[in-house]
Amino acid sequence: MKVVVCVKQTPSTTATISVNDNVVTWEDTGSGKPNVVNPWDEYTIEEGIRLKENHGATETIALTFGSADSVDVLRTGLAMGCTSAVHISNEGAEEVDALDTAAVLAAAIEKVEDVKVAMCGKQAIDGDSGVMPMLVARKLGWTPLTFVAAINEITEDSITVERLLENGRQVITAKLPVVMSVVKEINEPRYPSFMGIRKANRATVPTWSLDDLGVSVSAPRVNWQKIYSLPAREGSVEMIDGDSMNDKAKKLVDKLFEEKVI
Ligand SMILES: Cc1cc2nc3c(=O)[nH]c(=O)nc-3n(C[C@H](O)[C@H](O)[C@H](O)COP(=O)(O)OP(=O)(O)OC[C@H]3O[C@@H](n4cnc5c(N)ncnc54)[C@H](O)[C@@H]3O)c2cc1C
Repeated sequence: MKVVVCVKQTPSTTATISVNDNVVTWEDTGSGKPNVVNPWDEYTIEEGIRLKENHGATETIALTFGSADSVDVLRTGLAMGCTSAVHISNEGAEEVDALDTAAVLAAAIEKVEDVKVAMCGKQAIDGDSGVMPMLVARKLGWTPLTFVAAINEITEDSITVERLLENGRQVITAKLPVVMSVVKEINEPRYPSFMGIRKANRATVPTWSLDDLGVSVSAPRVNWQKIYSLPAREGSVEMIDGDSMNDKAKKLVDKLFEEKVI
């Protein structure tokens, strides 16, 4: 049984994002804040590796669709313990909408062959749409399992998982193959070992083009018309003085009435 983990490269969570004239920029390579594995995908990678360690998966393959430097996130996956990785080049498809991204990921999962479980994170911290797992499942015609917080059992042809709901958990069994999105409650991602990092740096990561996958992308159907930062919130601090606690409390209450807060 092969497992594919979909990993997206995103800006560092500590990068400063700026928006000017509809263009979003952030500090990346060279600034000490290089792009990173989408934080939600660290859980995806970890769970994919655990399926191999604990549930009899034969291979855990990390997959990313993006620019040449997004191979870095695959090396992180390899350093953590993925058995192999595939980079899908976005050359000729630098601006793609979610539907085309899903078509590309689905075609790559099919090309890997014999995949029973494809995993995504809950969402990407940059695009933030959280739609990819469902779209990929739709493209493949596989069962979507969202917000998975635990994998209880996998048999030859079925999987039993716990889904995280707002007020509890739901245990469900589904026929394989499935595409799932995982939440952070599912595990504690491991740190790559020193040996793992060395091995990952030496690993060959194949790149597949859209032609290799037989996928062509159209102009985005959803166009980003405008993106802007919210105006900075203005606020001020006023210290309330008084002779005693009672005096301060009274002044505070008077002030709150005056400002119509209460
Ligand atoms: C330069 C640029 C231009 C863009 N222009 C447009 C546009 O014009 N119109 C538009 O609609 N969108 C546009 N996009 C957004 C792009 O379509 C989304 O980034 C993509 O569809 C993924 O959606 P998301 O980031 O919201 O991921 P989510 O759906 O939030 O991600 C969920 C999970 O899916 C997986 N995943 C997502 N993306 C990838 C990936 N690339 N590789 C591997 N796994 C992945 C990960 O496991 C992730 O945790 C643009 C993006 C870029 C970088």
